Amino acid sequence: MHPITIIGTGLAGYTVAREFRKLDKDSPLRLITADDGHFYSKPMLSNAFSQNKTPENLVAIPVTKMREQLNAEILTNAQVTQFTPLTIQDKQLEYSKLVLALGADPIHLSLAGDGAADVLSVNDLNDYAKFRNALANAKKVVIMGAGLIGCEFANDLQQAGFEVTIIDLAPHPLGRLVPKIIGQTLQQALQDLGITFHFDTTVTNIAKGYKLTLSDGNILEADVVLSAIGLFPRTKLATNIMINRGIVVNRYLQTNVENIYSLGDCAEVEGLVLPFVMPLMNAAKALAKTLAGEPTQVNYPAMPVVVKTPACPLVISPPALGVKGEWQIEGEGRNLKALFLSPKLAGFALTGTCVAEKMALAKDLPALLV
Ligand SMILES: Cc1cc2nc3c(=O)[nH]c(=O)nc-3n(C[C@H](O)[C@H](O)[C@H](O)COP(=O)(O)OP(=O)(O)OC[C@H]3O[C@@H](n4cnc5c(N)ncnc54)[C@H](O)[C@@H]3O)c2cc1C
Repeated sequence: MHPITIIGTGLAGYTVAREFRKLDKDSPLRLITADDGHFYSKPMLSNAFSQNKTPENLVAIPVTKMREQLNAEILTNAQVTQFTPLTIQDKQLEYSKLVLALGADPIHLSLAGDGAADVLSVNDLNDYAKFRNALANAKKVVIMGAGLIGCEFANDLQQAGFEVTIIDLAPHPLGRLVPKIIGQTLQQALQDLGITFHFDTTVTNIAKGYKLTLSDGNILEADVVLSAIGLFPRTKLATNIMINRGIVVNRYLQTNVENIYSLGDCAEVEGLVLPFVMPLMNAAKALAKTLAGEPTQVNYPAMPVVVKTPACPLVISPPALGVKGEWQIEGEGRNLKALFLSPKLAGFALTGTCVAEKMALAKDLPALLV
């Protein structure tokens, strides 16, 4: 019997393998990864520096232990070059079912200047190792992108003693996710730490050294430039498989090709690309049942995201794309409750002490997929 084969040992690949093993202890299982296969929690990457965590410290379970725990073959440093047929370095592998848990690639701005190629992004442990090395002799860090990840890194690095500047095209942090007043509350808290913001602008040129030219004419100096402007699902290899923004799957996490499934940051489930932990956990539980012989649809309840900015505790659950309504703001100072009403509750953003209302409010939100 050919093994069920999972490409990817990130949270999506390993979670589906774990859930599958709860249901089926013995069927052959194989995981393939382009990296070294150690299990780690990716969300920790954006608040690891101030805790002085090395990449080694962030490994929660080494790959040797994962092989034992999952009773699985795990092929490491093995770049898959084709899915149909499944190919690694000219070698073809057979499978009974194939799961694509490939993650997403950081989006890179195309920038002018001889320093542009040195821009870093942190999307896995290897990236984090490079980032730490670059920070070793650095003082000034410029972050492109005031989204969730940019703000988390900014808070962490400023706390660790760096001089941090953030640049974004939007007029406030978390531009597309929260109402202005919530973005400004986060901005004020980060400014109080010493972080500088440049909004409504972008970087056009990076000269070695580094000297950044912004579209509004400002010039900034930096020792390290970090890009945190978003991720794009890894779909390049899915040549015979339907793709849209991500790898298109139905509620069973199944692609248009029989026996090929997908979940995690690379997948688009019924039109939703949700690059967060909770969606992939829900998907992994459903897919494990399907792989074990009980076809099961994924459900997505509302899944609020905790933003790791200790300077301003924040939880967000943005309304689904296209939902019309209005933000209603309650509270004062740094303790705000923003409710998106359509006319029923369709999203929220909570800061400060109001984050305690997360669970109660989440219960009133509509599910994303039922
Ligand atoms: C800095 C940071 C902080 C975050 N914080 C949060 C948070 O606080 N809360 C939250 O909910 N989410 C957070 N996220 C998002 C969350 O971490 C991701 O949604 C999740 O980890 C994605 O897991 P994944 O398994 O889909 O992808 P990945 O972890 O990227 O795994 C992809 C796997 O596929 C393998 N692979 C890809 N292509 C190939 C190939 N061709 N051949 C072989 N192997 C291949 C890779 O080697 C890797 O093993 C954060 C993300 C980042 C980057």
